Amino acid sequence: MEIESIGTVKSKFDEPADPEEMQKEESTIIIKPEYEEGLYRIEDNDYLQVAFQFHLSDSYELKAPRRHGRVRGVFASRSPNRPSSIGTTCVELLERQGRRLKIKGLDAVDGTPILDLKPYAAIMDKPDDDFADKKEDPRAEINHLIRSHDLESLLIKAGELHGHFCPYVSLGVIAGAYALDELGLKSAGMEDVVAIVETNSCFSDGVQYATGCSFGNNALIYRDYGKTAVTVAKRDGTGIRLYVKDNDELLSEYPEAEELFDKVIVNRAGTKEDKKRINQLWNEIAFELIRKPVDELFNIEEVNAELSEYAPIFEDAFCNDCGEKIMGPKAVSKEDKDLCISCADADYLQLDGRGLVEVE
Ligand SMILES: [Zn+2]
Ligand SMILES: [Zn+2]
Repeated sequence: MEIESIGTVKSKFDEPADPEEMQKEESTIIIKPEYEEGLYRIEDNDYLQVAFQFHLSDSYELKAPRRHGRVRGVFASRSPNRPSSIGTTCVELLERQGRRLKIKGLDAVDGTPILDLKPYAAIMDKPDDDFADKKEDPRAEINHLIRSHDLESLLIKAGELHGHFCPYVSLGVIAGAYALDELGLKSAGMEDVVAIVETNSCFSDGVQYATGCSFGNNALIYRDYGKTAVTVAKRDGTGIRLYVKDNDELLSEYPEAEELFDKVIVNRAGTKEDKKRINQLWNEIAFELIRKPVDELFNIEEVNAELSEYAPIFEDAFCNDCGEKIMGPKAVSKEDKDLCISCADADYLQLDGRGLVEVE
């Protein structure tokens, strides 16, 4: 079988680079004169599917570690090293000048042979991601993102819960998604999958979102260790614990962020610009971390976690003073009365920014 190239790529990239970096740039496809007529009205399309040849690749492995360090088959990856070395990418068509197409988003180096162009048609090409079945399985989309290792989309969604993007929410998403994927688990927020977090920081929100183990569904257990670590376990206790490697080292790659963190967050002394800048930096770091191999970020160990029973259903009690309903075991007996902790003025535990604290 022989395939004719219909043109070539002109790009500022002479050699392969991070595909995501390449996709941020504009490049040009120059179509051979004999095919120019075939471009008639191509500019009616905002997006094109481009098929091209990975002409620099000369070998492939059917099964090998891919991006993020996961072992996957070549057909389950977007690796440029493939048996028939064909790449396909959806690009934005910015402008046509004769047989030159200015495009954005192509991850192909200078001189790449173009094999084919087609308009991108959302109705044909876009996966059905309406997730109509979300009413039946609210985590359908999240599970899909975990299975396909699309951590970037998962982080974007986790931002809806967390309110901002930062390195630690990113780490929480990475850890939670990795554990579920590795254990082959889907969480339904019913305590069959349990996450034990050892800190209540931004990290915990990433974990809650990715694992579906939350404060409210009792599948989240809080252990007040003050460590950036999480154990995700099955009901029988078998699971994985991920403990973040040296955080300081991680952030020392970003000295500006470190400095601003001290100024803005630790000393609460930043200007408006400083705050804006740190948010911007945090955002960038969060999305950089999400692309790193998980074992670069975490120590990972198999564990047998000791889990408590399923959350018990307690009988209700009523406070004899204020009349409010309380969980039975939380009632305090005082002077022959059943009182709520508040009316009894009793000590209690509170989870706040300091961790669990006893309030007297
Ligand atoms: Zn955060
Ligand atoms: Zn009361």
